[in-house]
Amino acid sequence: MTDHAATLKALRAQLAEVSLINGINAVLYWDQSTYMPNGGAAARGQQLSYIAQLSHQRFTDPALGKLLEALLPYAESLPADSDEAALIRVTHREYTRATQVPLDLVAELSQHTAETYHVWVGARPENAFDRVQPYLEKTLELSRRYAECFAPFDHLADPLIDSSDYGMKAADIRTLFAELRAELVPIARAITEQAPADDAFLHQHYEPQDIEKFSLEVIKRYGYDFERGRLDRTAHPFAIRLNHGDVRITTRYPKNRLGDPLFSTLHESGHAMYEQGVNAAYEGTPLAGGASSGVHESQSRLWENVVGRSLGFWQHFYPSLQSIFPQQLGNVSLDQFYRAVNKVERSLIRTDADEVTYNLHVMIRFDLELQLLEGTLSIADLPEAWHARYQADLGVRAPDNRDGVLQDVHWYGGLIGGAFQGYTLGNILGAQFYAKALEAHPEITEQIGRGEFSTLHGWMRENIYQHGSKYSAPELIARTVGKIDIAPYITYLRNKYGALYRL
Ligand code: ZN
Repeated sequence: MTDHAATLKALRAQLAEVSLINGINAVLYWDQSTYMPNGGAAARGQQLSYIAQLSHQRFTDPALGKLLEALLPYAESLPADSDEAALIRVTHREYTRATQVPLDLVAELSQHTAETYHVWVGARPENAFDRVQPYLEKTLELSRRYAECFAPFDHLADPLIDSSDYGMKAADIRTLFAELRAELVPIARAITEQAPADDAFLHQHYEPQDIEKFSLEVIKRYGYDFERGRLDRTAHPFAIRLNHGDVRITTRYPKNRLGDPLFSTLHESGHAMYEQGVNAAYEGTPLAGGASSGVHESQSRLWENVVGRSLGFWQHFYPSLQSIFPQQLGNVSLDQFYRAVNKVERSLIRTDADEVTYNLHVMIRFDLELQLLEGTLSIADLPEAWHARYQADLGVRAPDNRDGVLQDVHWYGGLIGGAFQGYTLGNILGAQFYAKALEAHPEITEQIGRGEFSTLHGWMRENIYQHGSKYSAPELIARTVGKIDIAPYITYLRNKYGALYRL
């Protein structure tokens, strides 16, 4: 064995151990968010914290650093697109990042996050912001401390954004969002000045098992592999990778809602198909898993909206949905249904928001995060700041904090900063990838109308999924579509909603 081969083998062995630990962490997290009884919360917080520390310790082991140092010149000598070179390069980048965060902060963060999530789950239904406020204050302090580990930076949010959307800064996102906002606001205004679509029939009783039956039929057709996945129930839907052979999704069934559970499931299936499509050879290394939050959301938003809310999709699937719900939908035409699931309105809930106004919800959160980090907004004033922004940007005000500042899990299950921009980046990128796939295979539109998704899924797997984290998001974007660009997204919205609302 050459020196490099032996060193690489030692590196892989250490990374495999970290990957094992992270897989265990994922099972604990999944269980916490699905079936764990309340009484398990405190112990689970300790377990998650212990596992997070163990993973951090193993991954920041100086011996791993030495292996990487020894391998870097070798990586340079390899072709740029070699898997080995990528393994060394990506691991080195992640190692450098991880070693900048002290172990005690990792432990504190993990413990605090688990506790906060638990408090939020109880506080939200009771509209009790005062109960989460002290936790959120601590979260802000920890988020600042975490970001400070990466000094120097231009903005305190930069390291937080960089850790989910590598290569992007607060300033880049501000510019991109301003550009997008200028296009979206007039479209939203022109639509919401018209009479709203009638979607009352979506708000009747729909039996959860029946919604599930239909959702399963769809995501199987999409290509989500149930041999390596399953669907469960939770408070805030998510997809999670336990390992290459086990990528799970979750959804929720609020009372009198058809759209929320159905589209949440389609959304999470997009995340999961991405993870399922990663090259199996990357298992046990940092290359397994998606490239960034934005690229991940490009897939969830693509399968949820671009495909799942398209006319062709419903031409194929609507008769089957009607046969499951003859009482609720028997007298609703395809056209009425298509309009209802694409209703554009100034609403309160991000996850229910239509494609046109969705990004305005994201921008509100992004701006509030920056203000919190900058110290120009306090946690105590956050609920009112939230209401004020909704009033100003969307013309609506939530009657309480439950559907205001308490609505999203992100700040209660993670850090403040870097949590939301990925959704909008995903909408933009999803439209770019879709346009590119259509360019290569114009027959995709027709296929969707027949409930066939293998060409589209195949393009995504070939160009995006299989690479995992081998290429960073900027590299992947450069390889596939050149650079991030809002034009295809705006064109997509104009075509679709122009036809729906005769703009
Ligand atoms: Zn998502």
